Amino acid sequence: MIPVTSFNGRKVALFGLGGSGLATAKALIAGGADVIAWDDNPDSVAKASAAGVATADLRGIDWQAQAAFVLSPGVPLTHPKPHWTVDLARAAGVEIIGDVELFVRERRAHAPDCPFIAITGTNGKSTTTALIAHILKASGRDTQLGGNIGTAVLTLDAPAANRYFVVECSSYQIDLAPTLNPTAGILLNLTPDHLDRHGTMQHYADVKERLVAGSDVAVVGVDDSYCSVIADRIEKAGRKVVRISRRQALSGGLYAEGTAILSATLKGVEKLADLDGIQTLRGSHNAQNAAAAIAACLAVGLSVAEIRSGLSTFPGLKHRMQPVGRKGLTTFVNDSKATNADAAAPALSSYERIYWIAGGLPKSGGIASLAPFFPRIAKAYLIGEAAPEFAATLGEAVAYEISGTLEKAVAHAAADAAADGLANVVMLSPACASFDQYKNFEVRGDAFVAHVAALDGITMLIAS
Ligand code: ADP
Repeated sequence: MIPVTSFNGRKVALFGLGGSGLATAKALIAGGADVIAWDDNPDSVAKASAAGVATADLRGIDWQAQAAFVLSPGVPLTHPKPHWTVDLARAAGVEIIGDVELFVRERRAHAPDCPFIAITGTNGKSTTTALIAHILKASGRDTQLGGNIGTAVLTLDAPAANRYFVVECSSYQIDLAPTLNPTAGILLNLTPDHLDRHGTMQHYADVKERLVAGSDVAVVGVDDSYCSVIADRIEKAGRKVVRISRRQALSGGLYAEGTAILSATLKGVEKLADLDGIQTLRGSHNAQNAAAAIAACLAVGLSVAEIRSGLSTFPGLKHRMQPVGRKGLTTFVNDSKATNADAAAPALSSYERIYWIAGGLPKSGGIASLAPFFPRIAKAYLIGEAAPEFAATLGEAVAYEISGTLEKAVAHAAADAAADGLANVVMLSPACASFDQYKNFEVRGDAFVAHVAALDGITMLIAS
């Protein structure tokens, strides 16, 4: 745990006790703050009280006496409308911050040179965060991994000179971190997402920009128009910017050419790494993630050899295009995280011959947008409520069966793939939510892995 010393002896109000909230309250208390916490959910309040955190309805506290208001990133700061606690804090002129801000203040106070990499973007955040942490760890660095990826940042070890922090930041966390100043900040890409919580695309982009605007080295993916404008703007403002592209050669940045990650400088073009053969980093979206990870690792002092070595052993993240088993010429891939057509596209574009398991609870728009990938699909195995709708879209273009359940789909796809004679994948990339048959995409992915593990003659590639 990182005791938050910046509010020692002062009063702090905190709202949101699920997820990271309780850990934040404990870190503040450990650092000497006088915390009063609340949540709309009585169970969370009871749990915090039992853990020794003072609780009270924040409608009744003396807001003028609070040195800060700490808000959980899950609670609306701006859209669709500010939470009632935000209105009260603003009315009293109390600053509103989150756990990432508390972390950066501790780092600044106690170990300002401690290497700190922060990652944001619409897609690829977790992959890039996990990849950077893996490369650092593999090189023997003391590495702390947290933030939006799952481990609350204040539960990590305290900042110290040779300790490397890799922190995934959602827009909500950035919005609550006004002095965020990483050594290297990454903004991967920006596309419309969660606009219900951000109002407009411009507001969403403005929030994300703040992460790189405050970085010593700003790593920015410039393949979309929002990020490209941001890179120019912060460079003009004096930031050191490293541009990343998966699409075009850049002078002075890092870019992907096929599986090669190249760096072009005045001295010429250098091949920094080749992702060929790294199963967990297939596809041009992963080239973007890897290029950004390489740029950040270089910025915090790793050698090219250390980075190459780490890349080659990246185990990948669960449920995201994760190779889980192999049998003969067939690789079994779990991409359960692909809960809509856009999210399934990168996976379908990354393999040449696919026995595709899709379906679940359909999202609006269906799978018509995936038509460019249909020629890669040897056969589709449709499950869940979406099966009839997906069958209608596939029509004559793709062979399919309505398997109904994941268990049947895995068995049938495995048998067809084994008889194929060519290298292929059996991949769950459902392009649907899971809630018709599973609690969430993780449970669905775990079920897929269990069905794969039960196949005769399978070699599992992951520990189960
Ligand atoms: P996030 O943490 O931003 O949600 P993840 O790393 O968990 O992103 O990846 C989620 C899904 O997003 C992946 O399964 C893949 O389909 C897609 N994806 C990953 N990286 C990128 C990228 N750089 N650009 C576009 N899509 C991506």
